[in-house]
Amino acid sequence: MSETVTLTINGRSITVPRQTTILDAARQLGIDIPVICYHPHLIANGLCRVCSVEAGGRTQAAACVTACAEGMVVQTDSDNVRHGRRTILEMLAATVNLAEAPEILALIAEYGADAARFPDAVPRESPIHDDNPFYLRDYNQCINCWRCVQVCANDAQFAFALNFDHRGYFTTIGTFMGDGMMDTTCVFCGQCVGVCPTGALKPKRQALLEQGVDPDDIFYQTRQKRKRKP
Ligand code: SF4
Repeated sequence: MSETVTLTINGRSITVPRQTTILDAARQLGIDIPVICYHPHLIANGLCRVCSVEAGGRTQAAACVTACAEGMVVQTDSDNVRHGRRTILEMLAATVNLAEAPEILALIAEYGADAARFPDAVPRESPIHDDNPFYLRDYNQCINCWRCVQVCANDAQFAFALNFDHRGYFTTIGTFMGDGMMDTTCVFCGQCVGVCPTGALKPKRQALLEQGVDPDDIFYQTRQKRKRKP
């Protein structure tokens, strides 16, 4: 079996090593495919589907997880592809607070997504979790991209403090038994905050600065030690 495959992307031919994803092959050609859940240092899962392209199958394929195949013909920016992306963005806008997600807001503008298209959608409602001195979790701003879960688990930290919680429409990110962060295996490395694309995870000092809290008070609030459960 050949170690390479040749395909066309938007009419341009490219030969790449077998198992190369469509996303990586397109990037080699300088073709930009938008991503949201994808992060270059994390295992791709194809969760958000905004990178979906036409690749000859019955349905569109998520470019971040679909391997190139010999003779494949890929369209990354057809009307169907743009329509799909616009709908995904409209569903996100209808259910999640994206005010601090500049990359997604830029996509909404680029694809002409109508943030008011689904007026009956039930927005996310979650209390803001302020349970440790280091960072806040506001799942009203969470798109379930899973980046924080992955970086906390096998992709980097191996702490396994975060995971999915609940099912279906009500799926969210949570901790084991809903414990506060101080009672989990969290080591407060901050990597989840670093990869979050929406501001759902935010350093507590940043949040307090934004609220206009006095810096001395912020220092006091974010240095106090709290005991873990025995
Ligand atoms: S908290 Fe942030 S990183 Fe975690 S799933 Fe939600 S949006 Fe993604």
